[in-house]
Amino acid sequence: MIEGRYFAMLGPPASGKGTQGRLLAERLGLAYLSTGSRLRREIEKGSDLGLRAKTYLDCNQYVPDDLAIELVHSWLSRCSEGWLLDGFPRSLVQARALMETPIIVGTSSDLPIQVIHLTVPAAELRKRVTTRRECSNCGATTTSDHQVCPKCGSAELIARADDSTEGFEKRLQSYQSLTLPALKVLQESLAVHTVSGLGSRDEVSLAIQEKLR
Ligand code: AMP
Repeated sequence: MIEGRYFAMLGPPASGKGTQGRLLAERLGLAYLSTGSRLRREIEKGSDLGLRAKTYLDCNQYVPDDLAIELVHSWLSRCSEGWLLDGFPRSLVQARALMETPIIVGTSSDLPIQVIHLTVPAAELRKRVTTRRECSNCGATTTSDHQVCPKCGSAELIARADDSTEGFEKRLQSYQSLTLPALKVLQESLAVHTVSGLGSRDEVSLAIQEKLR
């Protein structure tokens, strides 16, 4: 039985955090936020947040910390029953914001947030990005073998613009230089479960559940 209700899922691009994050959130009945997928949707809509984020995503750079924190805080203020953040925190400033801010009004400040850290060797990540597809309708991730989204049935499966070779390498570099140091800091105060993201969707999901038990 998994006791936790508050999770952050981190991993390099194409490590499967979207797929595994959604699965775990569904299984535990948690609210789910992928900051990356929300930012892409806001850009498509042309919202104020989207306009502020666009230049950064176009250049395969992380958005500024204040923007990411604003997005997450506003989302967290609407859900207190348990949540999973996919792709946040990604920097030291974001990690501190998650640990220090009284993010959920009315709950204890020492919230037992657990971090799931997916690891996949870079060579495998490079292979995965070439076949990765994202559903424009529901945001689920799948591969180019599929004609329709296995989750919602939409035929709008697209390759992400930032999954180009150059885009991927830049994002991997940001992950290594900004997110890995943040993970170290998180480790000082929170439980960080490192899980190999190699294997089938169900194998990785099982490995995550075993770590959390
Ligand atoms: P993802 O879908 O998780 O690969 O995220 C796609 C892009 O969204 C990243 O390359 C960043 O530009 C941006 N992004 C998502 N989450 C964050 C975050 N927590 N901090 C900064 N930028 C983010």
